[in-house]
Amino acid sequence: MMEQKRIAIYGKGGIGKSSTASNVAAACADEGYKVMIIGCDPKSDSSITLLGGKRIPTILDLLRQKIDVKEEDIVYEGYKGVKCVEVGGPEPGIGCAGRGIIVAIQKLRQMCKSIDDMDLIIYDVPGDIVCGGFVAPIRKGLVNEAYILTSGEYMPLYAANNICKGLAKIDTPLSGIICNSRSVTREEEIVRKFSEEIGSKLMAFIPKEQIVQDCERDGFSVLEKAPDSPVAGVYRELAHAIMSNDSSVLPSSLEDERLRELTR
Ligand code: SF4
Repeated sequence: MMEQKRIAIYGKGGIGKSSTASNVAAACADEGYKVMIIGCDPKSDSSITLLGGKRIPTILDLLRQKIDVKEEDIVYEGYKGVKCVEVGGPEPGIGCAGRGIIVAIQKLRQMCKSIDDMDLIIYDVPGDIVCGGFVAPIRKGLVNEAYILTSGEYMPLYAANNICKGLAKIDTPLSGIICNSRSVTREEEIVRKFSEEIGSKLMAFIPKEQIVQDCERDGFSVLEKAPDSPVAGVYRELAHAIMSNDSSVLPSSLEDERLRELTR
């Protein structure tokens, strides 16, 4: 039996973590894997495209309402049987997402025994790792592989570099870099170089295609709505690369000067 993969995709806010997570989940489900996606974003946008545009209640919201929560209230079956759960994100000015995630996942584990049968669990964590709260899933052993999503622009790479610092600090290896293109000049080369210089590897280059946003707006993954599009093929390759990946390294971060040089 294969070892369960529990992955988290980190990266600067707005870089496309949720759409990457949901398309990878759909691609893995197409291959027959049992997949669960645990969204921790306040906008619930990792599960929404697996559920035909339907928004599901978050565990934290239900817990806050002090409702007697049952499994069917929080686990929803989406595209090809992908189990979708929304933890909910930090409330502005109030809650700690890191702690919230732990409380919610403990609750989920108590109620949903099938979580242990999953081949792949994807944690769609918000923001980047600079805040201690967001590394909580790693510290608690909920996640066993970390990936970073970036484009070739300076700011997302700066965030990616910071994430590397954070991972190294908590002694957590990095399993790979994914480039979500913004159509920057020499982008693939920049991100590949960055990946190599931090000691990691580029897992995939996802081209910027309007079809990704169009499918998302309609409430679907590309795999479901446009399975024959070239970008669907890229997500399939990425899913395959993740499922067969068994290497990881403790990343070394770059000096800011080098980071600027790379993106010039
Ligand atoms: S520690 Fe981080 S996750 Fe927790 S409330 Fe503060 S910013 Fe949010």
